[in-house]
Amino acid sequence: MIEFDHVFYTYPFQEKPAVADISFSVSNAETVVCTGASGSGKSTLIRLINGLAPHFHKGTLSGRVRVAGKDTAQTPVKALSSHVGTMFQDPESQFFALRARDELTFALECRGQSVEKIENITHHEADRFGITHLMDNMIFDLSQGEKQKLALAGIMCIAPDIVILDEPSANLDPSATRELAGHLMDLKRRGITLFIVDHRLYWLKNLVDKVLVLDQGRLACQGTFEFLKNNDLRKKFGLRKPDVVEPYLPAAQCYAPPQGCADNRIDV
Ligand code: ADP
Repeated sequence: MIEFDHVFYTYPFQEKPAVADISFSVSNAETVVCTGASGSGKSTLIRLINGLAPHFHKGTLSGRVRVAGKDTAQTPVKALSSHVGTMFQDPESQFFALRARDELTFALECRGQSVEKIENITHHEADRFGITHLMDNMIFDLSQGEKQKLALAGIMCIAPDIVILDEPSANLDPSATRELAGHLMDLKRRGITLFIVDHRLYWLKNLVDKVLVLDQGRLACQGTFEFLKNNDLRKKFGLRKPDVVEPYLPAAQCYAPPQGCADNRIDV
């Protein structure tokens, strides 16, 4: 579903590539988390998958990125958007409408769908994400977690194959993070390929199939969640312990597993 083949990408007016010699693949319905220190190239990977790097930033690309069989450098962003939906770190930055309902209908209207179909799809997605009661609200009145759910519902109205999430836990408290994990589990069950970039890893253990670690633009290692138990490896790449939630919370809350998961603790 996503294939990187010896990809190098350099932003305009930069000498050093932001990412270098990246090769990996993500299968259909797989969930991948990409982690690494700031500046290691995580956002650039996202922009290479959704096509923004070659088409909007217009840097120099070598190697090949394929998404759903399409070469992203050769495929217009609009065509890629049918396959890839991206939830940005601040979902508000991606909204077009002022009211929640209008946000869900907007993209479908742009695609010329019938009124009946638009109503069916938006009703269904709002229901799945538990935001039906918010449909008449102004978007700027929603909480961060509600904005994320609206953004995800909007993305799913287009029925993409791949959903990218850029640091989705960054602005959420642990309870909203667990709720997000539940929604992502639902997307996984629906067969969606998920590409998640995040520093916090504790909430992802039961969700991810593969972890990619970036270090200074290079893919330092990839493997299952288990390899994050390795202290030396984490120290080397500046990764957080996968069981650390928020340091200021009482321990009981820190170790509450996501809903439906038996236990998300890892002994390190
Ligand atoms: P991360 O998401 O892991 O913090 P980025 O992909 O944002 O890393 O950045 C990787 C490298 O690319 C950094 O050296 C950063 O300064 C550079 N970079 C990111 N965006 C741009 C841009 N728009 N123009 C020039 N350089 C950029």
